[in-house]
Amino acid sequence: MSYCFFCGKDLRRGGDFVKNQDGTILCKSCVSSASEIFTRKDAAERSGYAQNANTSGKVDIHKIVKDFSPRKIFDSLSEYVIGQTTAKKVISLAVYNHYKILSMINDSDVEFEKSNILLLGPTGSGKTLLARTLSKILKVPFAIGDCTGFTEAGYVGDDVENVLLSLLIDANYEVEEAQKGIVYLDEIDKKTKTSNNVSISRDVSGEGVQQSLLKLIEGTVANVPLAGGRKNPTSQQVVKMDTKHILFICGGAFVGLEKTIEKRVRNGAQIGFNHDPQPKSNADYSLFHAVEAEDLMEYGFIPEFIGRLPVKVALNGLGKEEFMRILSEPKNAIVRQYAKLCEMDGCELIFRRSGLEKIVNIALEKKTGARGLRAVFERILRNDMFMIRDKGSKSIIVTDEYVEKQLALQEQDFEKEMAENFKKAEEKANAAETAA
Ligand code: ADP
Repeated sequence: MSYCFFCGKDLRRGGDFVKNQDGTILCKSCVSSASEIFTRKDAAERSGYAQNANTSGKVDIHKIVKDFSPRKIFDSLSEYVIGQTTAKKVISLAVYNHYKILSMINDSDVEFEKSNILLLGPTGSGKTLLARTLSKILKVPFAIGDCTGFTEAGYVGDDVENVLLSLLIDANYEVEEAQKGIVYLDEIDKKTKTSNNVSISRDVSGEGVQQSLLKLIEGTVANVPLAGGRKNPTSQQVVKMDTKHILFICGGAFVGLEKTIEKRVRNGAQIGFNHDPQPKSNADYSLFHAVEAEDLMEYGFIPEFIGRLPVKVALNGLGKEEFMRILSEPKNAIVRQYAKLCEMDGCELIFRRSGLEKIVNIALEKKTGARGLRAVFERILRNDMFMIRDKGSKSIIVTDEYVEKQLALQEQDFEKEMAENFKKAEEKANAAETAA
């Protein structure tokens, strides 16, 4: 056979092709088209860099430095992240400097320290959101690793290198691109010296993990297991990845750290430093702004690890005012998302202030930060959204009474209401049939 099985091109007069064992031939052009389709499909299925990457699909460090100033990064972050002005400012500058350093890495004889970042703040205050949004703005590969399951080499648990595999996947398996990405390490506070790790083989202290992480954060050539998953003693295919230029952002809630900071600050005040000697409330997250390396060491971090995170910044706990803004201001605000979903079914979703305030108060009670807002939305809107199409609803008005009613609605009530609605729809259809 001398013709391409797909397009029928005659290959007798030349042209590259691949041949199967049964003699089937595919021409070069068909093979590259197929490969392109798969690449595009893979990219569409992933988030961040892959979807945002410029047409060349490469991370253009010089373009990042040319297009962005710290202020521009700050403004772009503000389109998604409400409040947290100090954190946004510090991060914008650190990230700008990071990529500026990368852009002149081969031309400069000055040795730069990497500006890895430590974010301290209560749960649901926007730590992950900040890191994720940064990667989105700058169009660089991004991965999140949860430190809770990490164990040091030789123990049962997750390899710290697994997060690099996620980064590699986000970079479409392009090692060079992944090496310019951003990694967010969540729950870093769970890896303190005192916190024990549940392992099948034995308890493993956080210190060993900190040792592994510090190498990764500072820069090492890591062996990334392509199969990923949990530690597997059998040999598997690995890819070498240099983490020297990857920006690491670590985050944690650091529950109880405020007491350590307060103690230090108050001791300082007693021996004559100019500081407010009044004791602060235990849950006062504003104390996090005064965090020093020594507080983190007392909390259970080894000094070498702290040293690899030179940029430390605290996020504030979010209150009612911020929650109200989070609902409607960000580009991807929850209110807009749900309104769009309803609009697609021909229904207008209208929010009254009383309804939004009610939602905010319920979310605040949950003490899970802004994360709780979405959960409340899901709960109050699920019944009506479930029925929009069948009922042909034209509008839903969310007031405080509506929120209360929806929350009180039990599953059995919902089932009853649904059955009644179906009955009404059936009667309507029957009546129409009879009339015809
Ligand atoms: P954490 O600080 O625990 O990492 P996240 O960043 O994951 O919290 O926040 C959870 C969700 O809450 C986000 O996906 C976002 O919808 C919302 N959120 C939290 N903080 C903010 C904020 N400052 N601005 C806008 N949305 C926020």
